Amino acid sequence: MFVTLIFGGNQGDRKALIREAITEMSSIGKIQHCSSLYETAPWGFESSDSFYNQIVTYETDLLPEEVLDKCQATEQKLGRVRTGTQFCSRTMDIDILFCDSRVINTPRLTVPHPRLAQRNFVLAPLNEIMPDFIHPVIHKNMTTLLSECTDTLKAEIIEKSFLNQSV
Ligand code: AMP
Repeated sequence: MFVTLIFGGNQGDRKALIREAITEMSSIGKIQHCSSLYETAPWGFESSDSFYNQIVTYETDLLPEEVLDKCQATEQKLGRVRTGTQFCSRTMDIDILFCDSRVINTPRLTVPHPRLAQRNFVLAPLNEIMPDFIHPVIHKNMTTLLSECTDTLKAEIIEKSFLNQSV
């Protein structure tokens, strides 16, 4: 299965933490694609600390819920404090965006991620690494979703990917 993850954080050494999380998640399988590193203003709440985000696709033999377990263990390891607030400052957040073209709705997991089509900071890196991929629920590709997105927060590349292609 190809699983697409987004890494993000707005606390601490953001770039180093994302790099560490991407490496830590490599235990699930081989990296296939890696986007550039993006910077975005906080989405959904006010903070002076902007977010860094990066999207990586891994090829894995694990089940989706096992991937989620690993994401949550990595968030914990990198020091995330759960406050109970949905939108908050955090050192590391890892979300599953896609698992192949599967549609998953379980108590723990909604895939594709339900809010991905509303956010430039998700769609911009997705469009960079998989522009033709069709969202299995909305049935539009990443380029179309980005062009139709009404999000006003800009996602800017701050470091070009060193491997935004197959590796
Ligand atoms: P968050 O605080 O935004 O990281 O949300 C974490 C919660 O969202 C966990 O309880 C997960 O079980 C749940 N969740 C549902 N769908 C997903 C997904 N696609 N990726 C990551 N977490 C998810």
